[in-house]
Amino acid sequence: MRKRRASKVISVGGVKIGGAGPIVVQSMTKTDTRDVKATVKQIHQLEECGCEIVRVAVPDMDAARAIVDIKKKASIPIIADIHFDYRLALAALKSGADGLRLNPGNISDPEHIAKVVRAAKEREVPIRIGVNAGSLPKPYKKKASVVERMVDAALSEVRLLESLDFDLIKVSLKAFDVPATVEAYDAIAKVIPYPLHLGITEAGLPWTGSIRSAVGLGILLYDGIGDTIRVSLTTADACQEVEAAYEILKSLKLREHGPTLVSCPSCGRSETDIVGLAQLVEKRLKGVEKTIKVAVMGCVVNGPGEAKDADVGIACGKGKGVIFRKGEKVRTVEEADFLEALMSEMERV
Ligand code: SF4
Repeated sequence: MRKRRASKVISVGGVKIGGAGPIVVQSMTKTDTRDVKATVKQIHQLEECGCEIVRVAVPDMDAARAIVDIKKKASIPIIADIHFDYRLALAALKSGADGLRLNPGNISDPEHIAKVVRAAKEREVPIRIGVNAGSLPKPYKKKASVVERMVDAALSEVRLLESLDFDLIKVSLKAFDVPATVEAYDAIAKVIPYPLHLGITEAGLPWTGSIRSAVGLGILLYDGIGDTIRVSLTTADACQEVEAAYEILKSLKLREHGPTLVSCPSCGRSETDIVGLAQLVEKRLKGVEKTIKVAVMGCVVNGPGEAKDADVGIACGKGKGVIFRKGEKVRTVEEADFLEALMSEMERV
């Protein structure tokens, strides 16, 4: 794994992004921002599952104004997502937004951008230059590739903000195309010092979207690129994005967050219903905040090794299972007691 890219540290509503700090997990509400009650409810759900910064869509002035009331009840920073109309950005800042996301593809008038930058600077509010492959500005040169167009769009906006003496910048270059996204981030990471927000946009439904995001974000994070991430999924359950983001970070040992379940795929050697047991364990681990590794293994081939390596583990055999805690064999239990025995040992860790 490569050394983390050294990026400038910025603060979004008190949450530090960049430098050697933790890679921050973000999500976005799926509610109508004007519906304060529904939006706050969803933000509270996101807070509970570990979301650290949340973005809300600001399609009109009412949504921009609603941020005042949303902010009163949310305990994580709110980023206002602005497209087309710079006045919405000004209104969102006035409402107390902790960050702005501007899309260079649809707010292009330098005068308008300057007005927003001046207001953001006064309040020390960072701006994310959020380039999206689906809404790129006109290319600067004929036949430019999507990667070049994304990088050019971000760079020219970065230079504009810098010319206004503004450096509370974060950049994202999102596309559905994983290789294009990786190449774009890789290119921009070499030429700007600002923190990067990673994402694969419109990644799809939870299963395929999580895989696509894990591949793209995984490559970049392994290369030391990325300071904050969002997994964009087509789901009504906003927490799925947050859970997927943490699984990606946990897989690369970049963050710890709640339990990790290690379970074998089961095969002809297993003499117990390992799939059923793993599913039951996963269900019981939902909502557990403790950082703990739990192993559910189907036989003696890899079972004892993995179970010993976990904080708590079970290596199942025919009708019986051996429970391990912190590398030590603690007891042998009957099949009917597998789940409860594992759970009670977990309490002891
Ligand atoms: Fe098969 Fe045993 Fe490996 Fe599970 S641990 S996949 S049962 S060999």
